[in-house]
Amino acid sequence: MKCVFCGGKLEKKIVTFSYGEENKYLLIKDVPAEVCKSCGEKIYTPEVSEKLLELAKEKIKPSKTVEVPVYEFV
Ligand SMILES: [Zn+2]
Repeated sequence: MKCVFCGGKLEKKIVTFSYGEENKYLLIKDVPAEVCKSCGEKIYTPEVSEKLLELAKEKIKPSKTVEVPVYEFV
């Protein structure tokens, strides 16, 4: 399989998926993905994407909650 964005080589990796909305931010650890060696784009299988979506909707209780500091750039 090749990267859909740049055509680069994909490498199987375990990554941390991050998801952010206005006042909600979450991380999902140990997610299997294919990562592009050229542009760094992460590609997930349909099964993994579905699971991520489910977790993002907070259907499953998180294993822990961490505080994320928010800074203003200016
Ligand atoms: Zn790429």
